[in-house]
Amino acid sequence: MTAPTSGGERFADLSRTERQTIVAAGTDRFLRAVDDIADTEFTGPTLLSGWTRSHLIGHVGHNATALTRLLDWAETGVRTPMYASPDDRNREIDDSARWEPARLRDLVSHSATRLAARWDALDVAAWHAQVTTAQGRTVHAEETLWMRTREVWIHLVDLDIGVDFTALPRVVLASVLADITAKWRAAGTADGLALHVDGGEPIAFPTGDGAVSHVEGPLPGVVQWASGRGSALLRRGHDVRAPHWL
Ligand code: ZN
Repeated sequence: MTAPTSGGERFADLSRTERQTIVAAGTDRFLRAVDDIADTEFTGPTLLSGWTRSHLIGHVGHNATALTRLLDWAETGVRTPMYASPDDRNREIDDSARWEPARLRDLVSHSATRLAARWDALDVAAWHAQVTTAQGRTVHAEETLWMRTREVWIHLVDLDIGVDFTALPRVVLASVLADITAKWRAAGTADGLALHVDGGEPIAFPTGDGAVSHVEGPLPGVVQWASGRGSALLRRGHDVRAPHWL
């Protein structure tokens, strides 16, 4: 079942050109933010517990390279996973967290440029080829546009440089919320929750004993809360704990 969320359309319904424009805009915002962070601030904390900005910036760089591997897979049919293993992914992030800021800036910008060039050059068959993500989902290669969009826009907020979820395009917010609520529904972890997004239909989850926890606010506030990043923008439900997402 697909409860409509406020924000109207979904990312997946947009044309490829529109999707590429949104991912490019998010990438650009992220890269500009990285440029603006002083070298001395790279070791500062992010919204992700245990990760400094260097961890996060390195991760976003490695993510672009990992998505490029999925495009290799789509083009050649030869299985090239995003990461050799979860341990490998984490080790790579820990290693790059010790790099100098200049090297991290180069990583995140060059890997993004390479990924964008690969998207531009991908042929029709490859866009529709099936690949498997690091989380084990089998998707068409064009899903990499959404995976990267989610990554750059949400991690822009995670950099903790004063940008919050109100900076994200509504279609991105609506699509992130759809991802999160689908996951909760599949896992059965949100029973008794009712989300009220301004201007949208309520999103209700089955109640066991009839008790309902209400969470209410503008779309950016509900997404911030649902993604586990605080309740500052909510009107109601500050004390409700968001079920685990990723
Ligand atoms: Zn990430």
